[in-house]
Amino acid sequence: MKVILNVDTCTGHGRCYTLAPALFDCDEQGHSVLLVDDVDGDLLAQARVAVTNCPEGAISIVEG
Ligand code: SF4
Repeated sequence: MKVILNVDTCTGHGRCYTLAPALFDCDEQGHSVLLVDDVDGDLLAQARVAVTNCPEGAISIVEG
């Protein structure tokens, strides 16, 4: 599965890199930076938590 981060939609709430630090970091403005996009197992579980908790709907998971 692939994680997709829409950087145009991200407004920097920081939920993703707080809840899933293995997958996301932040830039100087607090916006999310995707560290890993190919996920399964525990990383996929973390990605799902990030998707659920992003207030802007900026994160998605697709087959791939
Ligand atoms: S939770 Fe969503 S809006 Fe907040 S930093 Fe992460 S991707 Fe951006």
